[in-house]
Amino acid sequence: MTTITAIQEQAALINYGIFSTNPLKRKRYELLQSLQGFTYSKYQKWCNVLHDGIIAVPDAEGHISLRNVQTCQSRHSCPVCTNRFMAEQRSKLNLMVKDWQEQGGAIVMGTLTLPNRTPMDFRYSYSRLVEVGAVFRRLLKKLEREIGIPISIRIIEETIQKGRGLHAHFHFLWFLPLGAQTQDFMTNVKRLWIQAAKAKGLSGTSANAQNLKVVQPREGASVVSYITKHGYTPTSDVSDLALNGPLSPFEVLVAAATGDVDWIQLWRLFEASVKGKRRITIYKNTPKDD
Ligand SMILES: [Zn+2]
Repeated sequence: MTTITAIQEQAALINYGIFSTNPLKRKRYELLQSLQGFTYSKYQKWCNVLHDGIIAVPDAEGHISLRNVQTCQSRHSCPVCTNRFMAEQRSKLNLMVKDWQEQGGAIVMGTLTLPNRTPMDFRYSYSRLVEVGAVFRRLLKKLEREIGIPISIRIIEETIQKGRGLHAHFHFLWFLPLGAQTQDFMTNVKRLWIQAAKAKGLSGTSANAQNLKVVQPREGASVVSYITKHGYTPTSDVSDLALNGPLSPFEVLVAAATGDVDWIQLWRLFEASVKGKRRITIYKNTPKDD
């Protein structure tokens, strides 16, 4: 059992999370700490690193909770905050999906991508996806209203590969009312996605590259876990990762933490280019949305 005093005696750079008894939680804090070596200077508000003003409050059993902890609130690149944010979103989406399916509604899940063009330019990869996404939204909104879809969810996700750079893509969940024609809807979604890509001057977006499916009731939780996986902390060692294959951002962080300069560079590119992006967008087709 680590006492408050023992923690406080550590230098300010030691973050208390590495004392956690939960291995996964400890790993998140270790990753957070590894960031200090190679992150940008503007990313300095370290989460849960001991700093002046933190108050440690022990309860009757001696468990310590801390008050006045600073967090960066990152939804993209902090292993601790991102995990927390995505876990909150996961619980919320699980309830929404379960409730909708119990009412007899259908859930359609989609993965929509654009062809990889200049993937080493991370900012460009994000911006063209977001720009196509904005056109797609305008086209789709009409279709969603016709069908009576009250809500749809868009999540941005990315994979990063050495030599090939960043591939950003969208995951979607659509809540279709009872009796809606799911096959027609999925065909139309693919068509509108290609139309949106063309409107932004991108050819070569094929229907076959787009993945849509109806989520069965028993698949609800696993689909929600799948689309919120950005916050997951990799449990494997870097040697177990397929280092030539595409990695998720936090797998890149694990690889970067070993000191590999290529992965450090890719992590920095990711961190700088993802700033300000909206990780999860909830579209509500309510009248005031016009
Ligand atoms: Zn944070």
